[in-house]
Amino acid sequence: MPESSAVVRPVPMESSSYTAGSRLEAAGLREAIRLFEQAADTVPLPRAPQPIVIADYGAATGHNSLRPICAAIDVVRRRTSADHSVLVTHTDVPENDFSALFDTLNNDPDTYLKHDPASFSSAVGRSFFDQILPSNSVNLGWSAWAIQWLNRVPSPVPDHLVSAGSTDDAVRAAYAKQAAQDWQAFIAYRGRELAPNGRLVVMTMALHDSGEFGHRPLLAALRDTLAELKGAGVITADEWLRMGLPIIGRSAADFLAPFAPSGRYERLEIEHLEVFDAVDRYFTQYRVDGDAAAFGAQWGAFCRAAVFPALVSTLTGDPTEFCDRLEAGIAARMAADPQESQLPMALLVLVKRPRTV
Ligand code: SAH
Repeated sequence: MPESSAVVRPVPMESSSYTAGSRLEAAGLREAIRLFEQAADTVPLPRAPQPIVIADYGAATGHNSLRPICAAIDVVRRRTSADHSVLVTHTDVPENDFSALFDTLNNDPDTYLKHDPASFSSAVGRSFFDQILPSNSVNLGWSAWAIQWLNRVPSPVPDHLVSAGSTDDAVRAAYAKQAAQDWQAFIAYRGRELAPNGRLVVMTMALHDSGEFGHRPLLAALRDTLAELKGAGVITADEWLRMGLPIIGRSAADFLAPFAPSGRYERLEIEHLEVFDAVDRYFTQYRVDGDAAAFGAQWGAFCRAAVFPALVSTLTGDPTEFCDRLEAGIAARMAADPQESQLPMALLVLVKRPRTV
């Protein structure tokens, strides 16, 4: 299998619609926030005037980071004076729409900047598969729905959109290898950046032990609509073949691998790890209101925001018609047969132990 393939900068979300379409990502958020609050209650805090540093890895527009960060600041405030500075740093790839992020931070009614007068924001436009913050500087780290994006595309997935759906063992192995490397790199760099006894909370897509990746109705609707668009000449057969999503779910064993056998990876330990099924909020709503069209529209909008940018990156020419028809096709298919989706998610808390003497 060629090692090369397109090296992909993880594709930035479609910022205009990401915020609107990001409701699904709020799934599992409450439990993650509870763990983040616990971490905020536990981590050692630097002495003023040294700021308390919170890092948000893979922030996108920042919209979904506001609640967790406000919650953490509230907990920190119970432990420190009102004027002890909190510095929040939001990180994402350089291509991310940082203007949208700054707009959220300045203008969203839920921004922590309005909530806490001694909080400050900053941003880093660099991939988190590198060290991007000073060593020993981060007291609290947060990363939600971000590390499921691989650092590079190991190979095309000719028979599916995601490697989890492929029947080709070589494809699956190549993706698993890349996922393992990426996880190891991610934690290695966070391990440097965290302050001693600092904590990092990670929420990301997962795999059940059975290998179940979930998201089946959406993937079926997406593939089916893509085939229709190829048939209609909206995309070429070649573009269709090259389309793929470099996203991966990791199993509990995948997360644990770098920590074997001692339970430590460099100075990091896993304090909490769970794989669970997030609630399909769209289906919960559908159960209440029976509105199949709204159900379909929500999935269409979510998909457009979260994954269309990765799909259009292989297209030449204006992707507007492609995106509009793909969203409409997904919405119609999901509405025609509303089903609850299984959404495997993982939640981890990592702690950096002090250097042993
Ligand atoms: N944390 C937000 C946004 C998730 S969208 C939420 O919970 O909703 C995923 C984000 O991760 C995107 O903005 C994407 O650009 C970012 N991302 C993916 N790979 C990345 C990488 N290697 N480095 C930094 N950010 C990355």
